[in-house]
Amino acid sequence: MSIFARLREDALDTGRAVLDAVYPARCVCAPDEPLPTRPPFGLCDICVANLEPNDSERCAVCDHPGPRCCPPGSDLRMRAPYLYTGPLPSAVHAMKFGGRDDLARGLGRLLAEHVDIGTLARECDQCVPVPLSTARARQRGYNQSAILARAIGRALGMPVRHCLRRNRDTAPQHTLDAVQRQTNVRGAFRVKGHVIGSVLLVDDVITSGETVRAAAHALLEAGAHRVVAVALGRTPRGAVEAHPRLSLAPSRAKEAP
Ligand SMILES: [Zn+2]
Ligand SMILES: [Zn+2]
Repeated sequence: MSIFARLREDALDTGRAVLDAVYPARCVCAPDEPLPTRPPFGLCDICVANLEPNDSERCAVCDHPGPRCCPPGSDLRMRAPYLYTGPLPSAVHAMKFGGRDDLARGLGRLLAEHVDIGTLARECDQCVPVPLSTARARQRGYNQSAILARAIGRALGMPVRHCLRRNRDTAPQHTLDAVQRQTNVRGAFRVKGHVIGSVLLVDDVITSGETVRAAAHALLEAGAHRVVAVALGRTPRGAVEAHPRLSLAPSRAKEAP
């Protein structure tokens, strides 16, 4: 990270600290109850304890729970340390649609602390977040995957490059069936400039894996030596990304679901 980027991050942190004093921390399990202290990972201790680890039998390539599902020759390694169950759907929904960028920073720290993420990060030269479309980024005001990537970069001393771009807006993957998901994101990404070395590609949730596959394809075409995709949550097959209803503090809600 350049000195200017670091100064900008520090200024943002100071701004957030002021904001935190005005808007006390709240967990997704009880959004109307302010928490007595700001929890390190954004969620309260009970919700952190209720995150379900994705560490039982799972595919060695795509990290999907259950037996290996990817054929030999599939080379995009994916790792998402938590199942998209329990409090995680509410947290991701609040990050994406409730203006809760603070949760993205907290959960980014949690992700960075996971031993497997540390191991994979050491094999990579840079973090690259999956981008939003320009329209969606403008509407939301931030990209939750970029915040996760910055948290990993800071914790593990990795540069973060925002070199991926969306060629077009795509329909949310959770609204589509398996075939539609492939065509929805095929060719959806391009890379600004050239990529040298290995990339830790960061997203919030891996559902079918098609989004990170399409993004990885663009990175490899731009010169990346290898791409590893990491995310907070892995959606079990057959499940859709749940969109729970949350009662968020209206003053912090920036975008309607
Ligand atoms: Zn909670
Ligand atoms: Zn698989």
